[in-house]
Amino acid sequence: MKPAPLVGRNSSKIQDASPTTVQVGNATIGGTNIFIAGGPCAVESAAQLEAIANHLGPNRGNGHIQALRGGIYKPRTSPYDYQGMGQDGLSLILNVSQRHHLPFVTEVMAIDQIESLSAHADMLQVGSRNMQNFDLLKALGKVNKPVLLKRGLAATIEEFVMAAEYIASHGNSNIVLCERGIRSFDSYTRNVLDIGAVVALKQLTHLPVIVDPSHAAGRRELVASLSRAAIAAGADGLIIECHPNPDQAISDAQQTLSLEAMAELVESLKPIATAVGRRVAEPQRQLVAA
Ligand code: PEP
Ligand code: MN
Repeated sequence: MKPAPLVGRNSSKIQDASPTTVQVGNATIGGTNIFIAGGPCAVESAAQLEAIANHLGPNRGNGHIQALRGGIYKPRTSPYDYQGMGQDGLSLILNVSQRHHLPFVTEVMAIDQIESLSAHADMLQVGSRNMQNFDLLKALGKVNKPVLLKRGLAATIEEFVMAAEYIASHGNSNIVLCERGIRSFDSYTRNVLDIGAVVALKQLTHLPVIVDPSHAAGRRELVASLSRAAIAAGADGLIIECHPNPDQAISDAQQTLSLEAMAELVESLKPIATAVGRRVAEPQRQLVAA
C-alpha cells in the first residue's frame, strides 16, 4: 500500500511523524486522554438528550462522556424507517450541548446539510454508507470543522485511508478515523470489529482512530468487552450508543446501552487505559447557566 501523502505516517508535511490531535470542544482526541462520545442512534426528544447529559455529562453527571452523539439525519436501509428529526433535532441537541458544555457530533449525509450542521455541531460524522461519497468528502475538506470518518461497510484499509486523504487534500486535516466493523458471513454479530485495522491505521496514518463497538456488535451485551479490547489495542476513543430507555430507542435499540451500563463500561476502561499508557478523562466541570 502506497502511503497517502497527507494523512500517511511518513507524510512530508509531518516531519516528525508525531500523531495529530483533534480538538472537539474542550476535548482532545489523540492525546493521552481516551475520548468517549455517547448518545442515542437518533435524536428523539429534548427529554432523551437531557437525561443523557444529566447522567453522563461533565456538569450535572458523572463526566463519563466528553461529547454527545445523536443523529438527526439517519441513513436507514429502508426508506420507510425513521429518517431522523432533521433541523428540529438540530435545535434540540444544540440546546442540550450548550447548556451542559458538552460538544456534539452528528452525521452529515449530503452536501446541502453541511452549512447548517457545521454552523452548530462540534464535529461532523461521515457515515459508513458515505465513506466513498467523494463529492461529500471534498466539500468537507473545505469546512473548518473536525470530521469523524467512519469506515465503509466493506471498505479496505487502503480505501479508508484514501477517503481521509480526500478530505485532507481539500484543506481539512482535522480528521478522526472510526472503525465500526466490517461485513462478513456471520450474522450473529451485525458486523465484525476489525481490531487489526485499528492497529494498522495507527501505524499507517498520523490521525486519531476511534472505535464504534455498537455498530460493530449490533448486540448490547458485547459492547463493553469490545470497548475494552479497542482501548487495549491502542484506540484513541470510543463512540457508543446509549439511551435512557434503550429498549424504546427508535433505531438500533438492540445495540443500545442503558446510561447505567454506559457508566459501568467507562469505569471498567480505567485499568486498561492505564496499562497502555492512557487515561480515562476526568470530568471538566464548568459553570452552567441555570
Ligand atoms: C450511526 O452512527 O448511527 C451510523 C449509522 O453508523 P454507521 O454509518 O457506522 O452505520
Ligand atoms: Mn445507530
